[in-house]
Amino acid sequence: MSKPGASDNSDANSLPDRVARWLRPEIRALSAYHVPNASGLIKLDAMENPYTWPQEMTTQWLETLRQAELNRYPDPSASELKQRLRVAMAVPAGADILLGNGSDEIIQMVLLALATPGQTVVSVEPGFVMYYMIATFAGMNYVGVPLQDDFSLDKKALLAAIQEYQPAIVFLAYPNNPTGNLFDADAIEEIIRATPGLVIVDEAYHAFADDSFMPRLTAYDNLLVMRTVSKMGLAGLRLGLLAGPAAWLNEFDKVRLPYNINVLTQASAEFALQHAEVLKTQTEQIKQDRALLEKALRQIKGLTVYPSRANFILVRVPRGEAERIFEGLKAKGVLVKNLDKVGGLLKDCIRVTVGTPEENAAFISALNSLAT
Ligand code: PMP
Repeated sequence: MSKPGASDNSDANSLPDRVARWLRPEIRALSAYHVPNASGLIKLDAMENPYTWPQEMTTQWLETLRQAELNRYPDPSASELKQRLRVAMAVPAGADILLGNGSDEIIQMVLLALATPGQTVVSVEPGFVMYYMIATFAGMNYVGVPLQDDFSLDKKALLAAIQEYQPAIVFLAYPNNPTGNLFDADAIEEIIRATPGLVIVDEAYHAFADDSFMPRLTAYDNLLVMRTVSKMGLAGLRLGLLAGPAAWLNEFDKVRLPYNINVLTQASAEFALQHAEVLKTQTEQIKQDRALLEKALRQIKGLTVYPSRANFILVRVPRGEAERIFEGLKAKGVLVKNLDKVGGLLKDCIRVTVGTPEENAAFISALNSLAT
């Protein structure tokens, strides 16, 4: 007999057996969200803004941080920051906001609050993987309705899934990740009306999209709009927001961990929003470069380039070539996202984030040399 607490290698109590016995099977079946090592590479895999701030602005920001009181817990309601976000994101009067440690955390809060056994989350495939992942963490049923071949919504199939599963929640990313397109807004409104629970329109890429559901927020009591500062150039801060009726947000707020938005994030985001014009200029630059990148991609034979309203472009390469092209790009110093492994409509697809003009040129040149 081994002592309590000592490791026991007999079969029934081996470490793998213990893990197998006590872990939820659906968690064991998941793969952790994989973030590849990008050191030394041009990073065009994660929809980040490639620009830093002018030196003068960085100096002022560091001055602001000097006053941050790290010995104190953060303002739990982040009231100053919320006020600035309201203005920056044009949240309509009458809608409330809830902040998360990235919009990922908001998805988690919402699903934790909604999860009852057998309750369904509906989204589309291909779509943002965290809806499925977090639905699984929360013990919910996930139904991903396939998009059409051109990545538009299959409205009929979605309405049928809503009818069949009576979902607690539907997530629609607007624009969609990883396809980059905006779904038909009238179809989304029909889905909002047909959904018994709530609909989150996830506007992570709003800065590049030139359209939004924010103005429609107060027209529906089951619509919420989610945003993040990540793609605006503040991915390192981890800050997202959910806007919508207080009746929903007050409930979600109960599962929010106290102080989820730390002191440095609050101070830095407030500072950045006071300099919103700098972020806006960077965003405009990215939008212009997206057009140039798309044009350059269209000149390479054998590729299908999907129009994008986000800061990335989805590209279908010749059949069976995605892995070779992904690895070839990496060998030439450029990291993109290989979506081929996801399968389905993403077979043979890679996704490239719009970088600086120099980074985009390096990517195009590497891709040209790999095209067969
Ligand atoms: N929604 C969508 C559609 C996304 O693509 C992402 C990030 N890739 C997120 C939400 C999460 O953003 P964050 O947690 O950085 O706010």
